[in-house]
Amino acid sequence: MERNLRQYSVLTTQDNFAIGHFNVSNWEGVKAIQEACAEANTPIIIGVSQGEAEFMGIETIAAIVRAFREKMNLPVFLNADHFKDMAMVESAAKAGFDSILFDAASDSWEDNIAKTKQAVDLVKSINPNILVEGELGYIGVGSVVRDKIPEGAVIDESFMTTPEQAKEFVLETGVDLIGPAVGNIHGIVKGYKENININRITSIRAAVETLLVLHGASGIGDELLRQAVKAGISIIHINTELRVVWKDGLTKSLKESGDEVAPYKILKPVVSDLKQLILHKVGLFHG
Ligand SMILES: [Zn+2]
Repeated sequence: MERNLRQYSVLTTQDNFAIGHFNVSNWEGVKAIQEACAEANTPIIIGVSQGEAEFMGIETIAAIVRAFREKMNLPVFLNADHFKDMAMVESAAKAGFDSILFDAASDSWEDNIAKTKQAVDLVKSINPNILVEGELGYIGVGSVVRDKIPEGAVIDESFMTTPEQAKEFVLETGVDLIGPAVGNIHGIVKGYKENININRITSIRAAVETLLVLHGASGIGDELLRQAVKAGISIIHINTELRVVWKDGLTKSLKESGDEVAPYKILKPVVSDLKQLILHKVGLFHG
């Protein structure tokens, strides 16, 4: 029987695994995810940020993911990642995205709640089956390799999302998923070891029924990611590590390709590198 994203998400809490969320902005990424999904036989979420969605085409990426599911029987789903623009939220909902992450985390607490509630109402009026995620706490913006921790990002325990905040946010907004700030940071910070707070994840998990999403997981060690899954994280976002592997792989392949000009030959090893990384991550997320 074919499950939708909501059913798979609920399954993560019963079977104690997490679904990998990998961003794409080109065909190599899409192909690597499709192959990894077929090989690992596990649900995978393709994520597109507003910029990535505009580059891929919001209808195009939705049609590709639909084809994977309907023609190839693969449990691949599509998420609008950190959408801030309400018109784009509407386009994604109408295009058939499976989930939409509306991000107003850099606004005040009150504005974040009010805007997120508005996004939930809008999305559910178009299709009640689409999952809506809200963000709590600022963890920096952008899947990049950075020299220092982004200004204002929450790394101190006293500023991390509390179980009480999570509870209030869920109650006020009606979101299906939340992305709390638990020491995670978007992107990779050079020379800094991200130290997510497992106890905080456990206590938020105990406080709300809503499922938990871990953002900015690039650069977090394997063991810590395993612990995060055990503590109750249902979806884990990886983008920067894929971007780095893509660029390194492409640079190497171009250098070694000599007179070759066929893109599909030059890009083959890049797809393979991306696929290996994805398979490694989904392996971790399953314990
Ligand atoms: Zn994120």
